[in-house]
Amino acid sequence: MSNRLQGKKAIVTGGSRGIGAAIARRLAAEGADVVITFAGNQDAANQTVAAITAAGRQGHAVQANASDAAQQASAITQAAEKLGGIDILVHNAGIFQGAPVTQDQGDSYDRTFATNVGGVHSGTAAAMPHLHDGGSVIIIGSINAHHSIMPGLAVYGATKAAVAGLARGWARDLASRNIRVNVIQPGPIDTDMNPADGDFSAALKPLIPLGRYGTADEVAALAAFLASDEASYITGTAIDIDGGVSA
Ligand code: NDP
Repeated sequence: MSNRLQGKKAIVTGGSRGIGAAIARRLAAEGADVVITFAGNQDAANQTVAAITAAGRQGHAVQANASDAAQQASAITQAAEKLGGIDILVHNAGIFQGAPVTQDQGDSYDRTFATNVGGVHSGTAAAMPHLHDGGSVIIIGSINAHHSIMPGLAVYGATKAAVAGLARGWARDLASRNIRVNVIQPGPIDTDMNPADGDFSAALKPLIPLGRYGTADEVAALAAFLASDEASYITGTAIDIDGGVSA
């Protein structure tokens, strides 16, 4: 593993499981100290922190509901204080609730927007006093921002389109400080949210040209690249990592 991120200070929201946990481990393996946030799964959060410290880096976990703006802001501030500033901010925490518009939507619109968009907005705002010049902000969006792969994904897709819009705007806002803002847009990735042997997999697999789900580690590799100086001319963009689904 390279030392591309040696000495960097990173926050990963939703770092207890899935894509966020893989990103936290990868950033630590490349030299970053990492604070994760999580919603409620303390055991999983402890496991990620143990992996970070096993890599020889500083690791902490802060419990915070990303959909609550005050909790999210407090978590980011605590994390920045533990780390001594922020170089890398990864907004990964997100939820999926899907139902076609013909069905009762319950509170899924409010909950999904509050978590997937509200948490990104409040967290970025809270990070501003702590984010170092030359830093990197990465948002985990989804190919559903531009490609509605199956019915029932309208609200989820709309949240992911919204964060792509935030990223483009923030890239302009922060460019004078050489802070880059980008979105990673995964297709089907094998996690608790979307298991490769789960409810959606039979419908999804035939739509994936590479013929398989992606792994959280494959997404983490892209995040580490975007966080590093090797991506120094990439900002304001969204990169699909989807096995060719949206080709
Ligand atoms: P998982 O459900 O496997 O993990 C979700 C993580 O986010 C957990 O660490 C969880 O914490 C945390 N989390 C969930 N809700 C909140 C909240 N309200 N506040 C704080 N933390 C929260 O999801 P994935 O790893 O699959 O997804 C991660 C991101 O990637 C999401 O933004 C998702 O939309 C996106 N994505 C996923 C795809 C996939 O196919 N898996 C495809 C495209 C995008 P805890 O462990 O405490 O519950």
